[in-house]
Amino acid sequence: MSSLELQSTEFALEVQGGRFVRVILDDSGSRVFDYAVPEGVEVARGCRVRVPVRRRTVLGTVLEVTTATEASGVRFVAEVLKSDAGVNPALLELAVWMADYYACPLENALRAVLPQVIRKLEMTHQERQAVRLVEMPADEILASLEKRAPLQLAALRALEAEPGLMAVADLAKRTDASHAVVRALEKKGWVAVESQRVDRDPTRHEQFIEAPPLALNAEQEVVFHKVCEALVPRAPDAAAPKPFLLHGVTGSGKTEIYLQAIQRVLEQGRSAIMLVPEISLTPQTVERFKSRFAATQHEVAVLHSHLSEGERHDEWHRIRSGKARIVIGARSAVFAPVEKLGLIVVDEEHEPSYKQEESPRYHGRDIAVLRGFMERCAVLLGSATPSLESYHNVKLGKYDLLTIKTRVDDKKLPYIRIVDMRMESKKQSAIISSKLLTALQQRIERREQSILFLNRRGFSTSMLCEKCGNVCQCPNCSVSLTFHKAANRLVCHTCGYIALAPTKCPECKDPGIRQQGTGTERVEDVVQKLFPKAVVRRLDADVLQRKAAFRETLAEFRVGKIDILVGTQMIAKGLHFPNVTLVGIINADLGLHLPDFRAGERTFQLLTQVAGRAGRGDVEGEVFVQSFTPFSPAIQFSRHHDFEGFWEQEIDFRRQWNYPPFTHLVLLSIRSPHQGRGELSAQTLAKRIAEDAPPGLILSEATPAPLEKSHGQFRFHLMLRTKSVPRLSRYLRAILDKLPFPEDVIVTVDVDAYQLM
Ligand code: ADP
Ligand code: ZN
Repeated sequence: MSSLELQSTEFALEVQGGRFVRVILDDSGSRVFDYAVPEGVEVARGCRVRVPVRRRTVLGTVLEVTTATEASGVRFVAEVLKSDAGVNPALLELAVWMADYYACPLENALRAVLPQVIRKLEMTHQERQAVRLVEMPADEILASLEKRAPLQLAALRALEAEPGLMAVADLAKRTDASHAVVRALEKKGWVAVESQRVDRDPTRHEQFIEAPPLALNAEQEVVFHKVCEALVPRAPDAAAPKPFLLHGVTGSGKTEIYLQAIQRVLEQGRSAIMLVPEISLTPQTVERFKSRFAATQHEVAVLHSHLSEGERHDEWHRIRSGKARIVIGARSAVFAPVEKLGLIVVDEEHEPSYKQEESPRYHGRDIAVLRGFMERCAVLLGSATPSLESYHNVKLGKYDLLTIKTRVDDKKLPYIRIVDMRMESKKQSAIISSKLLTALQQRIERREQSILFLNRRGFSTSMLCEKCGNVCQCPNCSVSLTFHKAANRLVCHTCGYIALAPTKCPECKDPGIRQQGTGTERVEDVVQKLFPKAVVRRLDADVLQRKAAFRETLAEFRVGKIDILVGTQMIAKGLHFPNVTLVGIINADLGLHLPDFRAGERTFQLLTQVAGRAGRGDVEGEVFVQSFTPFSPAIQFSRHHDFEGFWEQEIDFRRQWNYPPFTHLVLLSIRSPHQGRGELSAQTLAKRIAEDAPPGLILSEATPAPLEKSHGQFRFHLMLRTKSVPRLSRYLRAILDKLPFPEDVIVTVDVDAYQLM
């Protein structure tokens, strides 16, 4: 359907027995109005429309098509946009559900399911002029061209050699034939010029070599078989298949199963979405997919946050038009507009980065499960360290568990040694224990590679004056500033505030100010000094600021040019380097003592994942975990690769204290630049919620957030726990819509919150 320009926007009072649409306007706080639809105009739920509002027209989305309206003074829709620029009905339904569940404005939910670049119609397809041979002139003419117009002849010969459309620019590159030459040929009727749509393909500069499927081993075969059973296309009235949770140790060949299951779905003429955490959406991952499907490479679309607007626009349209049937992407790719969805895979389903930390605060994995249910397609969640939520769902019978206990080719899981740093700390090099030092030495001698992991960037974590005890603090946040040595700056990792590093205490002017704590920059520094001949490199968000550095460093590491790679969680996930035989975790306690009930779970997951980077090749891997609390359960269970053991003790704790997965945690966050107003608002809100609280609600007191101040705002938390989210969400929205908060107080609702700081 082409876009329809409708003239009449005047009042349509007389429309009777006509059709109306309920339209939510863009960028207007979720306001909804009814409009009449002129006869003969096609419109459906999810269509994007232009509608009159006072003297302007604005864009909006059709929520419903009806035959009646109660509104008076209804006007006509001004334009119905091409249907391929709209929200498909399944996604519209998902948006409505999200607004309800996550207690957010419908407008925000709609923004999530339709990318901004499509919504705003600011981008168009890129076109280029292309030329095609129509008829080769007779030989005498060609002969005469040789002297008279050699460029014309060259162009004709080039087009003859390569039948089909050739971009005019390409032709010019090959033969020096300019546009004028092409026009001359066109005039004579020998060639035809057309405009051709070109997709801005984020991987256009790369070549992918076909990688055929691997023969599955026995354990993989069992899993694959079960998944395939759920891939059988369903009758329209059949129930959705139960989601799977694939618990397979690191390096057990989960990705191979994803690839083959997706292949199966493609063969059925359907599509698949593969979600991976943004951080592991590395060139390596993309390459693996593009190579497997190299023969039909154009069927793979990639969505991530580093795409240009043009690329995002084109990838979205390739998906929407059905040209691309495999979508691989981070969190938001769960909203990819694929039709005939056969499978959604969520790799590393436990990853907190699936949770969006701004409205709508949805969880990509949960949405995947819901979308699978709505569209009755298979959902496969995979992890070496499943989230407690998902594992709980297995125990409740909501998900089916699939397990792979051994690594591919019976490679051993790495041997994990815990180093008690209390015994080490008195020695001078307290960052690297003597055991880890020896192990690093060995790897360098044997020309094997090592990874050193520390989830904190910068050089030192704070600067402390030894005389007056002053610690350099961020003026906007309640955190100390991190010293970055290379830049010689103090940086706030919360708000990005930057200051020159002081040479003396800013308070008492004593020169005895010193650096405390360790970040990756210092680890790199220390290790380089310990092994002057080794090639040491670092990968963290600071390095990433230089574009392409991530890629380059990974590529160098892969070909063995780097001996020791130091990094943050950026290197913990999904990377596969066969020559890495040693992983050192510099400080396993970071994160373990945070005021967050998931601290243990996260530590267990992180340690297991990082350890999983070791020994993926022929040589067995070894892991050193340095800790000051070596007997904490998260560390001990990860040491023995004992997920079940960890689960048992952790789930007890959750049950006892009514934490998720036994309840849903809803976090209300109240922020204000004015401490008193923030606190009072939080207390008022707590009181109001308690008044008429739905049964079973556990409401904690209003407290200052663990991160009390951030970006110049004082922060307060109200933690709610419930068994029934939708009811609580509606209750909260009703309260928040009515309670008048001071203008500088911001209240946000985070359903199934992960970020508790
Ligand atoms: P996971 O996703 O569980 O970490 P991968 O799928 O990345 O594991 O597999 C780890 C390595 O083993 C990869 O290099 C992969 O190519 C290889 N692999 C996976 N399955 C097989 C198989 N059936 N036969 C041989 N190699 C395999
Ligand atoms: Zn700050």
